[in-house]
Amino acid sequence: MEKELRQELARMEKEFMLLYEVSNAMRTTLKLDQILYIILTALTAHEGLGFNRALLFLVNEKENVLEGVMGIGPHSAEEAGKIWNAISNMKMTLEDFIASYDNFRKDSASKLNNLTKGIKIPLREDMGILALTILEGMPFEITSDEARKKVEPELLKTLGTDYFVTIPLKAKDKILGALLVDNIFNKKPITKFDVRMLTLFANHAGLAIENSRLYEETLYLSNIDWLTKLWNYGKFQQLLSVDLERAKLNDSPLSLVMLDIDNFKNFNDTFGHLKGDRVLSDIAKLIKDNSRKLDHVSRYGGEEFSIIMPGTDKPNAVFSCERLRRELERFYREDNSIPLVNKLTISLGVASFPEDARTKEDLVNKADLALYEAKRSGKNMTLSYKVGIGQARSS
Ligand code: GH3
Ligand code: MG
Ligand code: MG
Repeated sequence: MEKELRQELARMEKEFMLLYEVSNAMRTTLKLDQILYIILTALTAHEGLGFNRALLFLVNEKENVLEGVMGIGPHSAEEAGKIWNAISNMKMTLEDFIASYDNFRKDSASKLNNLTKGIKIPLREDMGILALTILEGMPFEITSDEARKKVEPELLKTLGTDYFVTIPLKAKDKILGALLVDNIFNKKPITKFDVRMLTLFANHAGLAIENSRLYEETLYLSNIDWLTKLWNYGKFQQLLSVDLERAKLNDSPLSLVMLDIDNFKNFNDTFGHLKGDRVLSDIAKLIKDNSRKLDHVSRYGGEEFSIIMPGTDKPNAVFSCERLRRELERFYREDNSIPLVNKLTISLGVASFPEDARTKEDLVNKADLALYEAKRSGKNMTLSYKVGIGQARSS
């Protein structure tokens, strides 16, 4: 009796230490990917809970489905043996595992991870055990023949095991997703202590996921221009710094385009600001639709936009600008709600790395000078920077 109590105490102590360590690890980052990795590492690392494999699913509210997001674990008993030997030889701690996140990222196309990412389950009661874990918000232990009947054959086939536990991931009253753990290789029984520990663990994990999502959403919103949904000025500055550094490193060209709507004050005065706002968001969409995926389109200021074109030299940038300018001209020419005198056009200025400028400030300044020159030369045109251009303005 005393021996049993002592064992139970030792187990609890280990469990609390682990929870403490994992909570600390989860506090070190707000990046969702890293949080998920820490959760799954804690579940599978030898020093952690020591399950053979762990899979994580998140609810996609829009589509009302549960989606596999990440899976950690070997894909064969042989590989498992190798890994475990290596771990015990190297005496890796949970901290060491968490620190090797970058290695996981490089090799994230592992078999189990890919397999997990392919799982998508509609959230309906007849869709089996994972859907039920979410809908009922409770763990399921698939450790008996009786329980096994509730599991959809498709999932059993994908997992290759019929002995596992699912646990919901909760944050306050919300169910964010589910964890699935198994011991497919060493066949170690999953005990009621394991399930108790898993539940405690999942509550911490759920909160960490929720915090990280809120953080990422806030971060995203803080970088977006509300009216046009393009990147805002602050994000533009960050993007240009990063893209310019990369261009220098790879010895590749980069062009910056500054774009301004012609006579927009007139337009606002004639049609009002509401219609003006509508035009701004339409033009933003036109620019975006006419840009490559690689390009970064931002709202620079009031009715000025910028396009960062990595890997694009000056002649190609000018070519794209002219295509966009004509496209926009055509779009508004055909808009019968606007009378002829108020037809909308844009002017564009281009400066390129490396020939015009090597720093961010210089590049912005020179693209701006080219834009100014385009305005001065009659508007509705693209001009690129040349030495001496726009002197009237800069002096
Ligand atoms: P130019 O051809 O030289 O560019 O002339 P412009 O009238 O477009 O230029 P100016 O800089 O004199 O005026 C810019 C105008 O853009 C002023 C303002 O009415 C309008 N504008 C700036 N931001 C917004 C906005 O968020 N919404 C609306 N509706 N108008 C805006
Ligand atoms: Mg303007
Ligand atoms: Mg302007």
